Amino acid sequence: MPLKTLFLNPPSFENFDGGAGSRWPATREIESYWYPVWLAYPAGMMEGGRLLDAPSHHVSAEETINIAKEYEFLVLYTSTPGFPGDIRLAQRIKDINPRIKIAFVGPHVTVLPERALLEAPAIDFIVRKEFDYAVKEFAEGKAFEDILGISYRKNGVVAHTADRPQLQDLDSLPHVTDIYHRDLDVRRYNVPFLLYPYVSLYTTRGCPAQCTFCLWPQTLGGHRYRVRSADNVAAEMALAKKHFPQVREFFFDDDTFTDDLPRAEEIARRLGKLGLNWSCNAKANVPRKTLEIMKDNGLRLLLVGYESGDDQILINIKKGVRLDIAREFSRNAKDLGIVIHGTFILGLPGETPQTIQKTIKFACDIEPETIQVSLAAPYPGTELYRQAQEQGWLQIQTGELVDTHGIQTAAMNYPGLQSTEIFSSVEEFYRKFYFRPRKMFSLFGGMLRDPEVMKRRLREGVEFFKFLHERKATAREMAQTAAAASASSAGD
Ligand code: SF4
Repeated sequence: MPLKTLFLNPPSFENFDGGAGSRWPATREIESYWYPVWLAYPAGMMEGGRLLDAPSHHVSAEETINIAKEYEFLVLYTSTPGFPGDIRLAQRIKDINPRIKIAFVGPHVTVLPERALLEAPAIDFIVRKEFDYAVKEFAEGKAFEDILGISYRKNGVVAHTADRPQLQDLDSLPHVTDIYHRDLDVRRYNVPFLLYPYVSLYTTRGCPAQCTFCLWPQTLGGHRYRVRSADNVAAEMALAKKHFPQVREFFFDDDTFTDDLPRAEEIARRLGKLGLNWSCNAKANVPRKTLEIMKDNGLRLLLVGYESGDDQILINIKKGVRLDIAREFSRNAKDLGIVIHGTFILGLPGETPQTIQKTIKFACDIEPETIQVSLAAPYPGTELYRQAQEQGWLQIQTGELVDTHGIQTAAMNYPGLQSTEIFSSVEEFYRKFYFRPRKMFSLFGGMLRDPEVMKRRLREGVEFFKFLHERKATAREMAQTAAAASASSAGD
C-alpha cells in the first residue's frame, strides 16, 4: 500500500485563490475559485489519497491540521504569495504529526528549491515542475535519490536529482473530474463570468507561446504543447456529464485550448454530440471557421488574454498577437454570438499613462461581455522577473505581489510611471468600461431577463464595490511606503 496521502490546496488569506489551478494567485474582485487541477492527477493515482481544497471549501488552518493527523504524506501546492503562510502551516502539521512526510510542489518551489528547503525545516522534499509521478513514487517507497526531479536534504546540504523528462502520454493520466466527484463539492466553485456551477479541467499541457509574464509555461508545464486525444477527452466528458448533472458549464482551462485547430475542432464536435455547454481559453487569433465549428457544437464563451491595447507592449511581452488580428477575431466571435471574457494587464514593460488609456479605449471598442484587469506580477522564474531585476523596476520596499489581504499590489515602477499610478488605474479601467450607458444597459437587460442572473449579479456587484473599497486601503499603504522610501533615499 502506498503512504496514505493528503493532497492539499492550503488555507491562506481569506477568499484567496492561489492554489493548484490559479495562474494568478490573488484574492479576486469577486470571491471565486479555480479547481485544483494539478493536484487532482496524482490524487487519482494513489489508493487512499484525498484531495483537500481548503480555500474553496472554507476549511480553516485548524481543521486542516486536524485532518492531516490522519495522513502519512502531505503534498502541498504552494505559491509565491502564499509560501510564508504555507510553511508555517506545514510546521504546525509536523509538530502535531511528526511522522508525516511533507512535499511542497508548484512554481514557487520549482524556481527556488534550495531557499525553500533552507527556510522551512518542515519540508522533506520539493518536486520541481510537474509532480504527478514523483510524489507517487515516493508514496510507493522509492528512495529520494531514485526519484527524478526532486530536491531534498542530504548530509546537511540540499541535493537535487536530475530533471524528470516531461510526461508525453497525457492519456495515461487519471480523469480529474472523477477525483472532483470523489473529493470536492462543485457548488463551492464560482467564477463570475461562467455559469454556476461550473467544472474546469485541462485537455493539454504546456504552451508554445513565449509571453514573458506568464508563470506556468516558464515554470511548470513548459513550452512543448502536449495533448490528450479527442477520444480520451470525450470519454471523460461523457462520464463528467453523468457525475455532475447540475453543472451548467464545462470550462477547458488549458493554457490555450485552440493552438492545434484541427484537434480543437474535433473535440468541439465530440462535445457537440454529448450536448454539453462549454467554454475555453483562447488566443485572440482563432480563425472564423474554427469559431463557427466550436459555436455550432456548444461553445458559449471564450476567455481571451488580450493583455494590452498597445502593439508595442504586445511586442515587448512576446504575446504573438497584433491588435488588428485581435480586433478581427473579436468581431467574428461577437458576430457568431460567442461571449468573450477579456483579460487585461496593466503595468507591463513599456506602459505609460498614454498606453493605459489606449488599452481602456481598446477594451471599450472591442467590447467583451466582461473583463478582468490585473496588475503585471513579476513572479520568480519568469522572464518578466529577470527583466524587472535587471532594469531596477522592482520596488525594494513594496515589491510584495499581494498585500495582507491577498489583493494584488503593483510591484514595479517605470521611469515616468509610478506603481501607485498603475495600481489606481485598475479601478479607472473598471469604471470606464462598466459605467458606460451602453454597457450598463446590456448588463441590466440580462438581469431583467433572468431572475437567477439578477440575484447573482446583485450579489457580485456588492462584492465588487467592497473589493474596490479595500483596494483604496492598499493604495494608501502603497503611497505611504513609496513616500517613506523616497524620503529615506533623499536623506541618503
Ligand atoms: S499564450 Fe497564454 S498561456 Fe501561453 S504563454 Fe501566453 S499568456 Fe501564457
